[in-house]
Amino acid sequence: MAWALTPLTEEQRSIQAVAREFAASELAPFTDEWDRGAYFDPAIIGKLGELGFLGMMIPEAYDGLGVDTLTYLVALEEIATVDASIAVTLSVHNSLPTQMLLRWGTEAQKERFLKPMARGELLGAFALSEPDAGSDAASLTTQAIRDGGDWILNGTKAWVSSGTKGEVILAMARTDSPEDRRGARGISAFIVTPDLPGFSVGKKEDKMGLRASPTVQLHFSDMRVPGDRLLGQVGSGFIYAMQSLDNGRLGIAAQAVGIAEAALRHAAAYAAERKQFGKPIKEFQAIQFKLADMASRVAASRALLHAAATAKDRGEHITQFSSMAKLLASETAMWVTTQAVQIFGGYGYVKDYPVERLFRDAKVTEIYEGTSEIQRIVIARELYSR
Ligand SMILES: Cc1cc2nc3c(=O)[nH]c(=O)nc-3n(C[C@H](O)[C@H](O)[C@H](O)COP(=O)(O)OP(=O)(O)OC[C@H]3O[C@@H](n4cnc5c(N)ncnc54)[C@H](O)[C@@H]3O)c2cc1C
Repeated sequence: MAWALTPLTEEQRSIQAVAREFAASELAPFTDEWDRGAYFDPAIIGKLGELGFLGMMIPEAYDGLGVDTLTYLVALEEIATVDASIAVTLSVHNSLPTQMLLRWGTEAQKERFLKPMARGELLGAFALSEPDAGSDAASLTTQAIRDGGDWILNGTKAWVSSGTKGEVILAMARTDSPEDRRGARGISAFIVTPDLPGFSVGKKEDKMGLRASPTVQLHFSDMRVPGDRLLGQVGSGFIYAMQSLDNGRLGIAAQAVGIAEAALRHAAAYAAERKQFGKPIKEFQAIQFKLADMASRVAASRALLHAAATAKDRGEHITQFSSMAKLLASETAMWVTTQAVQIFGGYGYVKDYPVERLFRDAKVTEIYEGTSEIQRIVIARELYSR
């Protein structure tokens, strides 16, 4: 049913097949149990690491798989079709901290952090948001102050995906002084690890969906960060974070396409078997039209995503494209999962069938890595910037 609108190479098809088989054998039997128990299984990360899925876009020289963006996203969609929580764990790791290290890290930082991350031995996280700084991320207040060769960090980061298991956290903090605030230019990026004195994991969020992806607050209390943990230049951390989110949004779009594809498949299968008024409900035009609209929107979202991925691989500026792909795919995921619940009727509203979980999982794709409102702002702004 999944249309490959962009012709995939043999290598892309084979990595897609590996992801599909992994999802069917290693995730599908446990997805519901993990969702109900809000349980994150660290063993899965090790297994994904063995497949190279924790270093997908990292060059082989740094122990990664070295595939292009489209290959990565095709694999990510397959994982999301079965388990959206594992998909976001993969998306954050592959799109944000590893890419930041690859692009702006020193050789020593790449040796120490990027290589083991690419091998799947260390899981990455990305800490930009704070309790009072979400869409307006540049208003963050976590403060870093120089102390000799080190930095002392104080503050609270919020909503950190994989935060409980994150072993390498790219955290954004202010390096300007309260007397000389420099806005986005006053923010730097630091490589934080849980062994640093003053680091602690705070509240774990009890979420509507993506329950098997741990989301936590992180507290930095006089946390001493060695000087060699600064990423790139002082004052460039916010720019690094924003540029990385262009990649991240493609990952979230792939996650959303996977969720929507799964809802479409479940709804189509259910409509063929559920009988009312003496015939399968798929015979009713009202249901056929829903399925047709669902299939069309999923195909359009995937096509835009693949076009954005190939534009990125050609080295083009994709800020607008990636926001469009994320906006369309996430709103499609929410809409398609809503239709799927409707097609299941009362059975869609209970946990006996997966569409209830897919509906819950879909919602956050419209919120994180920039809400739909923020994507529209980015898209409109880009219209005038060229
Ligand atoms: C499950 C989950 C995982 C997450 N993982 C991470 C992570 O790993 N790392 C990380 O750094 N962050 C993460 N986040 C945070 C996420 O990116 C933020 O929740 C998101 O950016 C929105 O910020 P907010 O929640 O503070 O909402 P707010 O910014 O307070 O927004 C509230 C509402 O106001 C709207 N709004 C805000 N500003 C405007 C405007 N200018 N124009 C129009 N509407 C506006 C928003 O669209 C939204 O509808 C995660 C969030 C969730 C829920």
